[in-house]
Amino acid sequence: MKQPLIMTPGPTYVNESVRRALSHPITNPDLDPAFYDFYRETCQQLQRLLHTKNDVLLLDGEGILGLEAACASLIEPGDKILCIDNGIFGHGFADFVKMYGGEVTLYKVDYRNAIDMAQLTDFLREQHDFKAATLVHCETPSGITNPVDQICPLLKSYNILTILDSVSAMGGEPLLTDEWKVDIALGGSQKCLSSTPGLTIVSVSDAAWQTMKNRKTPIAGFYCNLSIWENWYENQWFPYTQPISDIYALREAVDQLLADQNALARHAQIANAVRETLTGSGLSLYPEGGFSNTVTTICIPEGISFTELHDEMLNSHQIMIGGAFDYLKGQVFRIGHMGENCYTEKVYLTMKALDAVLRNHQIPLSQPLHEVFVRLIA
Ligand SMILES: *Cc1c(COP(=O)(O)O)cnc(C)c1O
Repeated sequence: MKQPLIMTPGPTYVNESVRRALSHPITNPDLDPAFYDFYRETCQQLQRLLHTKNDVLLLDGEGILGLEAACASLIEPGDKILCIDNGIFGHGFADFVKMYGGEVTLYKVDYRNAIDMAQLTDFLREQHDFKAATLVHCETPSGITNPVDQICPLLKSYNILTILDSVSAMGGEPLLTDEWKVDIALGGSQKCLSSTPGLTIVSVSDAAWQTMKNRKTPIAGFYCNLSIWENWYENQWFPYTQPISDIYALREAVDQLLADQNALARHAQIANAVRETLTGSGLSLYPEGGFSNTVTTICIPEGISFTELHDEMLNSHQIMIGGAFDYLKGQVFRIGHMGENCYTEKVYLTMKALDAVLRNHQIPLSQPLHEVFVRLIA
């Protein structure tokens, strides 16, 4: 089977050395002291990536598990929680908050722009009696990155715990967990880290641990209870058997990312060139501001449907692009230029195929997309 180039905003392309790591011989992760050390070093590598001294945990499930675990562990029935909502994931966070009894205040704003700091500052001045706030670093469906470097410190100035979904940003956008005062930062293995799907990365601040300790009610559930991880290394005790092969792969991916000094600059440069190429040729982006460096969301031009575009990209050019769900379904398509997808050659091939498919449907483009792209990236 010929593998398509997967240019979706996660899962992303997994490179060969990471796939090879999956096939390392396994040990019994519960009984092998060397594995506890390997695991701890893996968490330390992630601390470097997240610029944090906070504990970093790996949960055995895809990104969403982290969102739920943060809510389950920090929120008690009746707690007032602010959910910052400028997109589908921001909105969806409120469902997890409610599931664990939180009283949600939804701060719902413009879905085509990043969070406006002046507006949020005014809102918080009036209303700031919240135990915690949920927010999203990169709204993957709309392709918008929020100024979490400013939002998190602002929330903390009111003593509000910050729970940040950075699943589609971690590794592709700057993330200064400690400097920005992020209590819980959440990431997934399959987005910018370009490992296989199946692991969640969670950093937990002292304030977040303290909040768990001071709860009046016990944390409901087991898998979503972050406190079961306390002192796992000292006690040489995992709460459940670890998916050792997934962890080998993630470690390899994170080591590679850390060794690449240019990763963040490359994301910014490629994202910028993609946007300029598309808008300069007559296409429209979905966001009006706050453009993400990891994913670009483009309005489907008149004259083609998402299904036609997707199928033709895949069947005639072996390139898989993303669509969207919820209110954006059928309205936009997405190119994930994150992690291992974020290389000139792959994006060039994507632009070339997109150019061919759109022209095949008589959609006017003022210039050949791939030619403009290489010129911009040179
Ligand atoms: C991918 C992603 C998640 C994880 O959820 P899935 O849709 O199940 O992959 C969570 N938050 C954001 C912002 C994401 O992009």
